[in-house]
Amino acid sequence: METVLVEDVLHRFLLERAGVRGALVRLGPAWREVAGRADYPAALRGLLGEALAASALLTANIKLDGELSVQLKSAGALRLLFAECTDQGRLRGLARWESPLPQPLSLEALPQAVMAITIGNVERGRRYQGLVELRAPDLAGVLENYFAQSEQLPARLVLAADGEHAVGLMLQKLPDEGGHGAVQDEDAWTRVMHLTATLGAAEMLAVTPEQLLYRLYHEESVRLFEPRPLAFGCSCSRERVAAMLRSLGRDEVEATLDAQDGHIEVDCEFCAQRYRFDRVDAEHLLRDAGATGASGTA
Ligand SMILES: [Zn+2]
Repeated sequence: METVLVEDVLHRFLLERAGVRGALVRLGPAWREVAGRADYPAALRGLLGEALAASALLTANIKLDGELSVQLKSAGALRLLFAECTDQGRLRGLARWESPLPQPLSLEALPQAVMAITIGNVERGRRYQGLVELRAPDLAGVLENYFAQSEQLPARLVLAADGEHAVGLMLQKLPDEGGHGAVQDEDAWTRVMHLTATLGAAEMLAVTPEQLLYRLYHEESVRLFEPRPLAFGCSCSRERVAAMLRSLGRDEVEATLDAQDGHIEVDCEFCAQRYRFDRVDAEHLLRDAGATGASGTA
């Protein structure tokens, strides 16, 4: 195996003999940046960590130009969950909730819940969105169903998070194409599933990617690709906040200026960056509205 980074990294690998491709993500500092931004109850913090790990895993085998996000909204105590990974390996995420959260926090029990995976480029306005049915209690199960439906290939996900680390493992059975030199062995997928089933959340959180792959698949001829570094990062900008203010309209912007001593302050919820606009700034951005026709989200 090649050099393996230990934290904030995405590894792609191939179990060549078994015809299975995989990805493994281990987040340390990047996850702690996200987890530390709110006083999350343990169950929700776990779910947010799993979603962040999953957002990185889902970028492993696609050609991404822009961002991939996993977003969940519900009418229940868990209002919003959002996790995003960009093509530059920048991760961010947050959740909004009301106490008390249901125990256990089951995804399929959330009222009027909608989950979506969005792949696209905000700047260039190209987006693909897939709705994910919430037919399992946990995120890994929900995403396995999504893969089975959208790609028609069996997939297995293992996700885990605590206050220190968020980790994820994804396995996908490659289509039986033949002629690629891969020995198609009938029982290979089942065998890999059995090996993977021996993996507990505690172990997954404790060991490095190299240890984990060796421990699980040392008899499966693992081919490890160049690791991809990940980091916490936010795509917010003054221009995006200005676009959001423009979309509110002149009346609301002026009312806010009047109410707040002639300035507007917007704090990014992901990274806490503060954007400040005074009356002159506001006049500029409102005047730009007609010229650019820009709209945006913050
Ligand atoms: Zn930000």
